[in-house]
Amino acid sequence: MKSQLSRLGRQLEQLAYRSLDQHLRVGITGLSGAGKTAFVTSLVHQLLHADAGQLPMWEVVQQGRLLGAARQPQPDLALLPFDYDAAIGGLCQSEPQWPPSTRGISEIRLALRYVPAKGLKRQLADHLTLYLDLVDYPGEWLLDLPLLGMDFASWSQQQWQILAEAPWAERAQPWLDQIVAHTSEARALDDSSLGVLATEYGELLKTLRRELSATYLQPGRALLPGELAGTPILAFFPLPPEALASPLAQRLASRYQAYVQQVVKPFYRQHFARFDRQIVLLDALGALDQGHAQCLQMAQSVQAIMQSFQYGPGSLLRRLINPRIDKLLFVASKADHITVDQHTNLLALTDSLTGEIGRRARFMGGRVETMVLSAIRASQQGQVDPGSGVVPVIRGRDSAGTPVTRFPGEVPRTLPQPEFWQRQGFAFGALAPPALPDPHAPLPHMRMDHLLEWLLGDKMR
Ligand code: GDP
Repeated sequence: MKSQLSRLGRQLEQLAYRSLDQHLRVGITGLSGAGKTAFVTSLVHQLLHADAGQLPMWEVVQQGRLLGAARQPQPDLALLPFDYDAAIGGLCQSEPQWPPSTRGISEIRLALRYVPAKGLKRQLADHLTLYLDLVDYPGEWLLDLPLLGMDFASWSQQQWQILAEAPWAERAQPWLDQIVAHTSEARALDDSSLGVLATEYGELLKTLRRELSATYLQPGRALLPGELAGTPILAFFPLPPEALASPLAQRLASRYQAYVQQVVKPFYRQHFARFDRQIVLLDALGALDQGHAQCLQMAQSVQAIMQSFQYGPGSLLRRLINPRIDKLLFVASKADHITVDQHTNLLALTDSLTGEIGRRARFMGGRVETMVLSAIRASQQGQVDPGSGVVPVIRGRDSAGTPVTRFPGEVPRTLPQPEFWQRQGFAFGALAPPALPDPHAPLPHMRMDHLLEWLLGDKMR
C-alpha cells in the first residue's frame, strides 16, 4: 500500500513537471537574401554551444541555469528539415562558404533544459525543458497576403502599373509588349501557351529581383515556388488594363482565385497560425547599396509584410485564422557591414522602413521591437588615420577572399531623398564568412545574446 502510494505520488509529480515543460514555435522570415539561413544557423549554433562564453546578455546563461541544448526529431514530418549540418559544414571548409539561401519552408527542433529561477516552478521541478521549433520560410510568401483582399482585376492593375514604372520597366518592357500584342490579337491562347507566358513572367520577376533588387513582386511563389514548382496553379500573370474584360482575363482570374484559395490561405492556416513568436529580418543596408527606388520598394514590401501582423478585429487575417503571435521582432541583419557607431542610425532607419504600420502596431500594444545584429560576424572593427583624424573602419575579406579595410559610410536615419545617392556612396558590399576551424568552435556574432533574451528570456524564468 505504502509503495503504491509513493508510486502514485511520483507519477503525479512527473505529471506536474511535464505540464510545466513548454513549447515555443518561432517563425523566421524576411525577403530573399535578408540573412534567414545565416540567422537560423547561428541561432542553433549559439544554443548548442551556449557554454562557450559568447552570450553574456542572455540571463539564463549568465545565471548558470541553462543545463544544455540538444537537437530533437522535427515534429512535422511533411516539412523539410533545416540543414544545419550542411550550413556549418560550409563554414568549416578551407574556403568558407555562406550557407545556401532559404528556398522554401524548413524546420528544426531543439530541447533546452534549464533550472527555473524561482516561484512555483522552482518548487515543483529541479529542471524543465523548453522545446523550441524554428521555422524558416520566405518573406515573399507573406507578400501574398494582400491578394486575399483583392480580385484579379485590381491585382493585375496594380502589378501592371508597377512593372511599367522606372526603373523596373527597363527590364519589364519586352514582356509587357509581348502581353499587349497577345491580348490585342484577341486570339485564344491554349493552356501550354499560357504556361509559357506565366513561366516568362516568373523569370521576369526573378530578373527584376536579381538585377535591380526589386522586392515588391507577386505572386510570391513565382519567385520561390517551393513544392509548387512547375504546377499550373502558378500559371497566371497580370494583364494590361484594356484586356481586363476579355475571356483571357476570366481564365487568369480563375487561376488567381485557385492560387489564393489553395496556396495563400493554406499557408496562413497550416503554418502562420501556429507561430507563437515571429522574427522578420531586413537587409536595409543592401537596399541602401542599391539606390532610391529599391529603398522605397523595400519600405513598401516591409509594410505589406507587416499586414500579416495586423490582426485587429475585422482584419483580413483575423477573418481567416486566429493568430497567436505575441511578440514580433524586426531585425536589421548583417550589422557587421558597418561600424558600431552607425548601429543606432541603422536601428532608426529600420524603424522608419516599418513606417506608419509599425508605429500603429506599437500603439495598439503589440509587442513589436527592432534590433540590430549580425548572425555571423564577418568583420572586425578598427580605426585608421588618413591624416585628417581617426576614422572608424571595418576589416574583413571581400567575397573573393581578399582582405579589405572599409569605411562603410554614414547610415541615414530615415529613407533618404534621391539626391543623397549622388552626394554619398555606400560600401556595404558582401563579405566572406569567417572560417570555422571545426563545427563546435565559437561562431562570431553581434547581439545574438540580446536576441535570445528577447526570444526566450520570459519563458525560461
Ligand atoms: P536568406 O535568403 O534570407 O536565407 O539569406 P542568407 O542567410 O542566405 O544570406 C544571404 C547573404 O547575406 C549571405 O550569403 C551572406 O553573404 C550575407 N549575410 C547573411 N548574414 C550575414 C551576417 O551576419 N554578416 C554578413 N557579413 N553577411 C551576412
